Amino acid sequence: MCDKIKFYSTNLKASEVTFSEALLKGLAPDRGLYMPKYIPKFTDEEIFSFREKEYYEIAFEVVKKFLVNEIPEDDLLNITKDAYDFEVPVEKVYERKYIMRLDRGPTASFKDFAARMMGRLMNYYLKKENKNLTILTATSGDTGSAIANAFYGLDNIKAVVLFPEDEVTKRQRKQMTTLGKNVQSIAINGKFDDCQHLVKQAFSDPDLNYMNLSSANSINIGRLLPQIVYYFYAWSKLSLGIDDKIIFCVPSGNFGNIMGGMLAKNMGLPVKRFVIATNANDEFPKFIETKQYNKIEPSINCISSAMNVGHPSNLARLIALYDGVMDEKGNISKFPNFKNMHNDIFSISISDAQTRSCIKETYAQYGVLLEPHGAVGWAALNKYLEKFSADRNPNQLCVSLETAHPAKFPEEIQKILSLNPDIPESLKGLEELQESFVKLEKGYEVFKNFLKEK
Ligand SMILES: *Cc1c(COP(=O)(O)O)cnc(C)c1O
Repeated sequence: MCDKIKFYSTNLKASEVTFSEALLKGLAPDRGLYMPKYIPKFTDEEIFSFREKEYYEIAFEVVKKFLVNEIPEDDLLNITKDAYDFEVPVEKVYERKYIMRLDRGPTASFKDFAARMMGRLMNYYLKKENKNLTILTATSGDTGSAIANAFYGLDNIKAVVLFPEDEVTKRQRKQMTTLGKNVQSIAINGKFDDCQHLVKQAFSDPDLNYMNLSSANSINIGRLLPQIVYYFYAWSKLSLGIDDKIIFCVPSGNFGNIMGGMLAKNMGLPVKRFVIATNANDEFPKFIETKQYNKIEPSINCISSAMNVGHPSNLARLIALYDGVMDEKGNISKFPNFKNMHNDIFSISISDAQTRSCIKETYAQYGVLLEPHGAVGWAALNKYLEKFSADRNPNQLCVSLETAHPAKFPEEIQKILSLNPDIPESLKGLEELQESFVKLEKGYEVFKNFLKEK
């Protein structure tokens, strides 16, 4: 393999592109999502060699496989080294059951892993081509701060983040509005859906073509590839050998995280099964059980708020991986191979009540502090182990992902455990920083004029 890997659209109606084109475009012109045409494989020896490597070195090895002839190796290594300068703790709960804390990045959610890499890769290509780009992102909280942080200070990119004025916590808002420089935050007098609507309208508005707008939402292939890495990392730190198959549990909303895991398995990682955990938005567990897909509209509000998704965008990619075809609206024109899906995946919905008791019990029993998203995952893993008793043996390796820091949800943790989670370094000092943002009404013309003037 020395040719570049091509990327196709899940809607199958757009031409294939190279990685840099897919990265800078975001969505394919037929509104599908880009997927690699060919999934590169690691040999067992290569995977085994990761045991000796640092996180950023594994990131380099994984992303390099997809970027053959796209970017010089030295440049890529510099990018991964710069992006991953924080810890990735893997914490034992009992026996060989672990949680991996993906919350030590600058904004304390797992979205930092993807955003930091994507920002740096985009800037790399833009610099080379001497181009500029404006990133538009609508956020309900975590995405906006991760994107704003990741793009902050990059020369060739302007980041515009829209958030619903009354729906983000003060801490979340401050994470976006205290940066300045090339980051512009806009408080919209409306809901998250209104913000998303404005962003979509801007993308399809020919009057704004000249601005070179792009998206940083989890549809971007540049966010997907970095999410493969921590699956390899967890296995390499914990496994006893290539036959030591792992079970991953992934709290899921838009299904970007789980897609990273799926690609890792397809690259050769010895995964026994993925447990896909959702909150009350149970369209996916129902789908693999009944083979009927029904979106949930509007989505249900749960305490694991970043997972309140009634139709996950990345489902189209998951279905493509199992030889099916689903369009952006959720219509299935070719069914996936359900038999293979059932072999690889167990999926279950966890209620808010179950989430809260999981936080309570895990803390009481093991002294391990979870926040609502990670607790959906841990509760789902417990359900899985109850059902598949063969995997309950002490030697079975299981890792559940914790996707945010408990200090991002102090009110909920206080209510359940009567304690205040310690604030990580990255979130300290926010209180004192000056905020700067504009407030706009939710109408499109107002937003458009603002963009044009800027
Ligand atoms: C975004 C997010 C999720 C959901 O991840 P997906 O990739 O959308 O499935 C889970 N937990 C937290 C804390 C998040 O911010």
